[in-house]
Amino acid sequence: VVETGETGSEPLPVGMVGLGNMGSALAANLVESGRSVVAYDSAGPGRAPQSISEVGSLAEVVRQSGVVVMSLPDGIASEEVARAILGVSDRRTSLVLDTSTIGVRAAERIGMLLEQDGVEYVDAPVSGGVAGARARTLMVMFAGTALACARATPVLAALSDRRRRVGDRPGMAQALKLANNFLSATALAATSEAVSFGCSVGIEMETMLEVLNMSSGQSAATTDKFPNQIANGRYGAGFTNTLMSKDVGLYLRAAEEQGTSSVMGRVTADVWGEFATKEPGADFTRIFPFVEGS
Ligand code: NAD
Repeated sequence: VVETGETGSEPLPVGMVGLGNMGSALAANLVESGRSVVAYDSAGPGRAPQSISEVGSLAEVVRQSGVVVMSLPDGIASEEVARAILGVSDRRTSLVLDTSTIGVRAAERIGMLLEQDGVEYVDAPVSGGVAGARARTLMVMFAGTALACARATPVLAALSDRRRRVGDRPGMAQALKLANNFLSATALAATSEAVSFGCSVGIEMETMLEVLNMSSGQSAATTDKFPNQIANGRYGAGFTNTLMSKDVGLYLRAAEEQGTSSVMGRVTADVWGEFATKEPGADFTRIFPFVEGS
């Protein structure tokens, strides 16, 4: 039996790779749940919340942790880290949980790569933003073998209070996450157009949101993004347009590969692609001024 750190009286530290907007919030949740955390980010030290031991290399994380949680920008980064994990001969890591949005094919590939070398893999993307991560309302959708998911459960429980196993193989949770972000991206872009139209007629934004939230046009765009990030000019959701454009692009490619309808997917991908090209790295809630000005 490979030591996982999930049994016995002294669990091994959990490894955290990627300490960006989402990764640092997830690392903080692990610590608050009583886990010790060893963390690494290729951008250098100083990104982890207090009480997390940051190490200078991925190899060090892999030597100390039974379970590694990844929060990385895309499939290229996740695959690079997965290969580097396998390159550490004296590794303790035998289970990898990938919370990144990387697409279906990347999760399938990384799952096979790791499993060939005896490292289990759980595809575990998240939805609900940095605010949701802090509030522990982040939805963690995960997929993998029954054994891998059972072993992942204590760490998933430390990450968030909302979790659901959605399939038995890596890639299935990515498919659901891509469908979710396609819906979220479409609703936010469409709501930006609708609010811009209403305001041009002379209706106050606040009035529009109040009425929409009691009508059939309601969505997370009208209940959360507009009131909490756009109407107050905050624009600080902590998720970039570059990442949203990546997600919608991944959705579109996956839908095309499956042969399902992608008419709306193309329109949404175009809008977000244009926005991310014009203002790379902007908070994704700035889609409203972008749509309003175009
Ligand atoms: P981010 O760009 O803020 O953070 C990514 C971090 O990964 C950076 O600190 C970067 O230095 C690090 N990194 C990149 N390559 C690395 C490597 N090879 N080794 C170690 N570290 C590396 O992105 P984020 O907003 O934190 O998102 C992370 C993932 O979570 C993405 O896949 C994103 O789509 C997903 N996600 C984010 C949110 C959100 O609200 N921010 C919500 C849901 C899902």
